[in-house]
Amino acid sequence: MAMLGFVGLGAMGKPMAARLAQAGLPLIVHDKAGTAERAPAGARAAASVAEIVAEAETLFLSLPDGKVVEAVSREIAAAKPRKTSLVVDLSTIGLEAAHKTAAIFSAAGIAYLDAPVSGGVTGASKGTLAVMAAGSKADFPRVEAPLKAMAKNLFHVGEKPGQGQAMKLLNNFLSATAMAATSEAVIFGESQGLDMGTILSVLNVSTGQNTASGDKFPNRILTGTFNAGFTVRLMAKDVALYRAAVADVGTSAKMGEPVSKAMM
Ligand code: NAD
Repeated sequence: MAMLGFVGLGAMGKPMAARLAQAGLPLIVHDKAGTAERAPAGARAAASVAEIVAEAETLFLSLPDGKVVEAVSREIAAAKPRKTSLVVDLSTIGLEAAHKTAAIFSAAGIAYLDAPVSGGVTGASKGTLAVMAAGSKADFPRVEAPLKAMAKNLFHVGEKPGQGQAMKLLNNFLSATAMAATSEAVIFGESQGLDMGTILSVLNVSTGQNTASGDKFPNRILTGTFNAGFTVRLMAKDVALYRAAVADVGTSAKMGEPVSKAMM
């Protein structure tokens, strides 16, 4: 198996890279906040993005936002010598940034898959993520083995970079809507003397059941751990990216604004 690279070993990147190493895939990794303490066992720590580009044929990114992805993509495109011929971005960056990133890689002759993920830190650790990849289908088989080490459900959602982001943003908009609406409903219930645990038990066998009532509330809020691993900052970013994309195309935005405000 050819060498794989991974840049960005944060809440998601670290467990995803660990899954690659555990699968026995050769791996070289980097994180600007400090690589040695974040590198999974079995992976080599690189001092820079350029060091990875010189060695890894396929490079995965898991970075905070579009600005960072664009900056790292420029570093990849400019690095010499270069072995990297395919970059798979697992980050959530929005459509505009995905289009800009596609242009950077296209000009440099590097293939690119826009491949955001869903399933959170738990899914990343267990290898049960969903990947929604967009880009040339011809590049998909090259990354199937490493993606399968990180994810249970792989989807090739379209040929155009940006389509992966569209899929991810509409998913997270629905997830944020469930979280905001469930929070309001639970507070109303408590105002009527209903216990949160009782509310959740009833909801989860009734038609109000959703991802917030089924997972985040019983496992993270009721327990007082608040450890979902996905910050409100990241969710607010995703809903803002969703709203910007909807405004661009002009489809209905009635629900977007109140849900976005609820994230602030
Ligand atoms: P994070 O902030 O925990 O991790 C990002 C990592 O990137 C950090 O370790 C940071 O040091 C590193 N980094 C930043 N700039 C860098 C650079 N120039 N070079 C190298 N490394 C750099 O974020 P996260 O929660 O791991 O999320 C990563 C991406 O995955 C985001 O786009 C997020 O929206 C998406 N996502 C997160 C979750 C989740 O549950 N946390 C779920 C699905 C998707």
